[in-house]
Amino acid sequence: FWVDLDVSPVWDKQRKLTHWVAVGRDVTERKLAEEKIQHLAFYDALTKLPNRQLLMDRLHAALADPARPREGALMFIDLDNFKVLNDTLGHQKGDMLLQLVAERLRSCVSKGDTVARLGGDEFVILLENRGDKPLDPAKGARAVAERILAALGEPYVLPGYLHHTTCSIGVTLFGKSDRTVSELLKQADLAMYQAKSAGRNTVCFFDPEMQAVVSANAALAADLRQAWREGHFKVDYQPQVGADGRMIGVEALLRWQHPQRGVVPPSHFISSAEDTSLIIPIGRWVLDTACAQLAAWARRPDRRHLSISVNVSVKQFRHPEFVDEVMEAIAQWGVQPGKLKLELTESLLADGIDVTIAKMGSLKDMGVQLSLDDFGIGYSSLSYLKRLPLDQLKIDREFVKDILTDANDAAIARTVIGLAHSLDLDVIAEGVETEEQRQFLARQGCDSYQGYLFCRPLPIDELEAFMDRQPAQEPATA
Ligand code: C2E
Ligand code: CA
Ligand code: CA
Repeated sequence: FWVDLDVSPVWDKQRKLTHWVAVGRDVTERKLAEEKIQHLAFYDALTKLPNRQLLMDRLHAALADPARPREGALMFIDLDNFKVLNDTLGHQKGDMLLQLVAERLRSCVSKGDTVARLGGDEFVILLENRGDKPLDPAKGARAVAERILAALGEPYVLPGYLHHTTCSIGVTLFGKSDRTVSELLKQADLAMYQAKSAGRNTVCFFDPEMQAVVSANAALAADLRQAWREGHFKVDYQPQVGADGRMIGVEALLRWQHPQRGVVPPSHFISSAEDTSLIIPIGRWVLDTACAQLAAWARRPDRRHLSISVNVSVKQFRHPEFVDEVMEAIAQWGVQPGKLKLELTESLLADGIDVTIAKMGSLKDMGVQLSLDDFGIGYSSLSYLKRLPLDQLKIDREFVKDILTDANDAAIARTVIGLAHSLDLDVIAEGVETEEQRQFLARQGCDSYQGYLFCRPLPIDELEAFMDRQPAQEPATA
């Protein structure tokens, strides 16, 4: 037991030391409480492993202490599908699994290495190269990772249930180069995500290219956000023409006017806008802009027959308020719903097909037209196609491009046109650049066209000028 001891000398009248008085107090309890507090502060209560705090202390020490060799590896380990176990079998079994995992992880490393639990099903291992066992950190980390994959892959005996799981491991090495603790953690985390996307149950080492991609994406996302705040987007329009060469409508195409880089094409930013969900407000704005334009044209007899096609991204379509927003835009601008055409892509059919069909039905009921964009490159199966309330198929420009030279592309175009007509849909071909392409498509019975042959996408004022130059049409009957 622990004692707290006070010892005092006792003197007689001649100032001679006669004896000592010692007072002892049993402080075992206080000591234990202190240890417990220490433990609570630095160790995870469930697995008894070091927690984030202690890991950080040790990482700082490993990187900062000039006396240490500063070489080693940091590993992120994350169980695959842990959430499923937790949600289906309950937290108690989840906790048991975490305890078993912690034990197995400990058994995979040597005594001086740190196995910590960050929380949830996330574990971190710090392997340090100490003087007594110098080892190539890459080789050492690889060996440990293999051992962990094997150990955690063994079945777990839980009450009344044999559980199987795997894990994903991300590793970053540290050595001569100066990196901060937070950089190392980010790198290991990134490598772990790489392992997840590589199909799980595997190990990935951090490589700087990964970082470059992530940083570039983050920079683009930040740029986009700023552009949206500052209103740097605009919509250009590209004419669509009918079989007789007359303009029947336009497709609205989004442009980003970058103050330094000039006009950025959508292929450079749409996927980032999707990832960040910025596509939802931007897409709503495009829809609104198109409806405003339709309203302006409705006031002019020579323009009121024109339709506007608006591209709708998957994320936008799946948003619960999408149908309401379309309805609002139509009502707000008082446009004829049939003049608004939404271009949907086949990726919408990849999953949630019933919801997709229901939403398409609501849009149709409003009178909005629906076109299936980029047709031929995606997932459409005939059985789906029959169930979709579509008005139009749009042949992707990939097929139109080589229609005269590639027999496959020609066959696809011919088939799409035949298919559309058999389903009572009309067909538009995009990316038509030459008169020969147009003629080939016309021979197959294509109904309408879009492409550089007729006109490039134009800013609205140039489009108005282009339309003014077109030969006069008979008064529209729309
Ligand atoms: P998309 O829907 O397939 O649009 C047609 C693309 O083909 C446009 O590219 C257009 O400029 C281009 N194009 C038109 N005629 C020709 C031609 O004769 N030859 C060639 N080689 N290309 C031609 P853009 O404007 O760069 O748009 C690219 C994609 O960005 C669009 O492909 C569409 O998927 C997406 N996008 C554009 N605007 C929006 C938008 O407002 N919302 C969403 N979600 N996506 C948009
Ligand atoms: Ca389109
Ligand atoms: Ca297309």
